Amino acid sequence: TTGVSDALLEGLNPQQREAVLYRGQSLLIVAGAGSGKTSVLTRRIAGLLQSREAWPSQILAITFTNKAAAEMRERVRGLIGEAADGMWISTFHSACVRILRRQAEAMGMKQSFTIYDTADSRALMKRIIKELDADTLGFTVGGALSRISRLKNELTDVEAFARTANISDPKEAVLLEIFRQYTAALRRANALDFDDIISETVFLFRAFPEVAALYQKRFRHVLVDEYQDTNHAQYALVRELVQPPRFAEGSGERPLPGASLTVVGDSDQSIYAFRGADIRNIVEFERDFPHSKVILLEQNYRSTQNILDAANAVISNNFDRKAKNLFTVVGSGEKIVGYTGYSGHDEAQFVADEIEKLRDAGASYNDVAVFVRTNSQTRPLEEIFIRSAIPYRIPGGTKFYERAEVKDAMAYLIQVANPDDDLALRRIMNVPKRGIGPATEAAMQAHAERLGMPLREVLRDAPQLGLGPKVTTAIVELGELLDEIGATVATAAPADILTALLTRTGYHQSLKNSGDPQDEARAENLEELVSQAKEFRTANPEGTLIDFLTGVALFAAADEIDDHDGSVSIMTLHTAKGLEYDSVFLTGLEEDLLPHRMSVNEAGGLAEERRLFYVGITRARKRLFLSLAASRASFGDVSVAMPSRYLAEIPGELIEWRQSAGGGFRGGAQGRLRAAPMRDSYSLPPAPKQKTEWTTPITNKVRDNGDLTLAVGDRIRHTDFGDGRVTAVTGAGPKAVAEVQFEQAGRKRLLIKIAPIEKV
Ligand code: ATP
Ligand code: MG
Repeated sequence: TTGVSDALLEGLNPQQREAVLYRGQSLLIVAGAGSGKTSVLTRRIAGLLQSREAWPSQILAITFTNKAAAEMRERVRGLIGEAADGMWISTFHSACVRILRRQAEAMGMKQSFTIYDTADSRALMKRIIKELDADTLGFTVGGALSRISRLKNELTDVEAFARTANISDPKEAVLLEIFRQYTAALRRANALDFDDIISETVFLFRAFPEVAALYQKRFRHVLVDEYQDTNHAQYALVRELVQPPRFAEGSGERPLPGASLTVVGDSDQSIYAFRGADIRNIVEFERDFPHSKVILLEQNYRSTQNILDAANAVISNNFDRKAKNLFTVVGSGEKIVGYTGYSGHDEAQFVADEIEKLRDAGASYNDVAVFVRTNSQTRPLEEIFIRSAIPYRIPGGTKFYERAEVKDAMAYLIQVANPDDDLALRRIMNVPKRGIGPATEAAMQAHAERLGMPLREVLRDAPQLGLGPKVTTAIVELGELLDEIGATVATAAPADILTALLTRTGYHQSLKNSGDPQDEARAENLEELVSQAKEFRTANPEGTLIDFLTGVALFAAADEIDDHDGSVSIMTLHTAKGLEYDSVFLTGLEEDLLPHRMSVNEAGGLAEERRLFYVGITRARKRLFLSLAASRASFGDVSVAMPSRYLAEIPGELIEWRQSAGGGFRGGAQGRLRAAPMRDSYSLPPAPKQKTEWTTPITNKVRDNGDLTLAVGDRIRHTDFGDGRVTAVTGAGPKAVAEVQFEQAGRKRLLIKIAPIEKV
């Protein structure tokens, strides 16, 4: 392999270099965070192309997000200085949809199949559970869907499940029936759900070796990033792809070896077990791919030594892992900063203040990320950021495509692209209002079932249904409109199709005319969707409506991250995978949040949460802030929060703890009242904005008044509100709340255990 230029190898350490140049059948690169796994994969692709060992069309690279795929494509282009168009760099899902569309016929589907998102799957499941009365057996929509998802991730289809299910157990028997009906309904609708996309591709390859051979022959190099988060179905797919092609006898094709396989991963960063990710895929790689070469990377190029030491210390508490120690040559860097806020708002204020300081020191907002464990934690951050005029963005937070009016418009598009999709038609049948009520819909549904036809065809048959003349006309007209616009889908631009639907149905106008300001906003969202469709066509001049629908269906939170829009990103730890930022704030480091309360009783749950923490820490290049609040509001309740157990795993000397001003007594309140408006349902006082910063001895303990008991009539002194008298006490133990009439600050409710108060 001399065809790889020195320039391409420049700056690589010996192990990285070896990983780029190795030319065997299978290569496993295992390494900790920030050691250059993704970079090496990218250079390896560039090297294969540069040396002409592979044509672009022979490369299949799998990334975890669409955004990562786009970046990798750009980097390869940057490295070899030319566009490599035939390359497939994409997520598992995008690659499989591409394969399935081409092979739809073999699968027994139409090429125009649509992809159900979670809401669609839920709507379908809801009907099935209702029809089967399965809720009486304890089935919930979410529960049934997650069972089915797990089955699909394990490549168990309905027939396989029927063979293994214990149907003398009524619950199991009903699950089988639910699975059967759910699958049949998807098939009838010419639709796939998210998990089907992978499992159906595997089934396709297994059922049609000649189809599999097309891809086995084509892809000579298969490369997978973030391999630790593959589930069984994805693993099986990779195995299928790298088999030697099985040519039909007499085909005249010469035998070919299987494709070369490169996977990179870090089992310490496996954080998608809930989606079926299986660390065994990486741990057992050497067994599954004998003679594979294993390369370890240990030098980290991302973070300072202090950050790495913290990450190493935390993750070393997980059992069953290969010890590895990341090192860097950039030096220890700044200390990690810890902060215990008085409340979620106080914590958020700390984050905002520190971000402003970073900015004063020359950083850009884009260099900063704030991580949360769950979406619900973003609210106080957003409030304070808005108040402090800090531009921010929450990838996946706008849920644009989940809005009702956007889903309506999408349902129109889906219905014209895929007339078999009853769910989409039911959604828009009476949007805008056409006088098609539940009784009419039921009559149409019954007709469809009687004749075994999709609902769409019933629109044409409406005159036979004996409905009123007005509604009959409305139904027939809808059918004609859909047919007419449907005839254009293969060629017309998605935005034109959408515009035609929105204007000719009158939907857009009906929202504009309603006089309700909410509807005005809805109309604007529809306009935004049209712009998105236009942008899509600009980016993909050949893109059809089906392509647009696929893009929307596979769009994920992480794809929304914009590195150049001048805003701070607030995101969940799951979304943060693979990314890096100069400054990182890890917030809400409390028991019940991290580890999340749902994980504590699950086998392996605590280890998985620790890996999440590890992923969060290792995103930081230069500065890491760890924060928590002493009390937190959730579900309208406010409760004492305890520091996350994982904080104690970081060696104390790495962190400089700062406490909220509300965390210590300063006595003699001078009426320093804060008038900051509180939008939270609780009325704990907002802590004063930090004026002086002081370092306390290392303590990550929250303030605790122990068993201070208060009774009506007691006089107390509060750090911020001054003197007051207790007028009522409710609740007991750590949840006891005192109502206090302050002399100057008025009436407040305080959580006794943690409020900065003393009896006087
Ligand atoms: P993660 O586990 O978080 O996915 P990773 O192992 O994929 O991380 P990369 O993202 O590839 O690591 O690299 C981390 C950072 O280190 C990037 O900014 C990358 O450009 C840089 N880097 C990688 N290798 C080198 C090198 N040899 N010299 C200088 N910088 C490097
Ligand atoms: Mg990476």
